[in-house]
Amino acid sequence: MVSTAAAALEQSTCPAVQVRGIRKSYGSLAALDLVDLELEEGRFLALLGPSGCGKTTLLRILAGLEGASQGEILIEGIPGGQARARREIGVAFQRAALVPSRTALENVRLTLEVCGGEGALDPEALLREFGLGSFLNHYPHQLSGGMQQRVNIACALVHRPRLVLLDEPFGALDELTRESMGAWLSRVLADTRQTCVLVTHSVEEAVALSDRVAVFSGRPGRIVSQLDIALPRPRPPRIDPNFSREAERVRLALYDALGDAGVEA
Ligand code: ADP
Ligand code: MG
Repeated sequence: MVSTAAAALEQSTCPAVQVRGIRKSYGSLAALDLVDLELEEGRFLALLGPSGCGKTTLLRILAGLEGASQGEILIEGIPGGQARARREIGVAFQRAALVPSRTALENVRLTLEVCGGEGALDPEALLREFGLGSFLNHYPHQLSGGMQQRVNIACALVHRPRLVLLDEPFGALDELTRESMGAWLSRVLADTRQTCVLVTHSVEEAVALSDRVAVFSGRPGRIVSQLDIALPRPRPPRIDPNFSREAERVRLALYDALGDAGVEA
């Protein structure tokens, strides 16, 4: 599996994600203002910013679920809408979207029925990797919020889309569960080399998971700084001085970005 992904990486000639001059307005409300981004294949980008700065909006535009008012999105060189039609984008939002009448395993298999199974990960192995080996045949209502979210993320990854978009998928969970889920996600992505964009408002989560953090200003959101995270993988624990130093750097960038808008992260 890894060698196939590495070969794909070598063959790739254009960035996995190109965002050029994106603006988005809802009537008179400007949500995004001239967002530019570029992300190489197999990399993990965190979008960090205060509530209402347009993070979800950008993710929905990236996913091809919504159009931009201005600008262009290319996923591996093709327009976002086409990439979505080719099932090359996997998405998980904050609330798990599981089919209640299907078990955890059946929910993940459903993604393969809809998106196609060629080159896919093994649903059962993926759920085991996410610590759900004993819950494969449980229905969503029999799972905790954290478990449902793990199934949700498994659904976004299993068909091996080139691009995985995660919108605060750990938002509603307690801190320990968030950390474990981050570790599981990192392990799977390190293996599959899928490109990932994660929306978060947690500095620690961004530093623990991403190769790069894009920091948004308050609304209308624009990216005011991008920081590469200079930490090895697997990432050191959050109490490690190197982790704390990186987190501090990102936090300062976020405070700068917010200016007078106040600090919510
Ligand atoms: P974030 O995810 O960073 O919290 P959002 O992208 O959800 O922010 O929203 C950015 C702004 O756009 C907010 O002010 C929100 O109310 C507004 N907005 C988002 N979606 C819509 C919509 N469909 N119609 C009108 N306003 C919207
Ligand atoms: Mg949001």
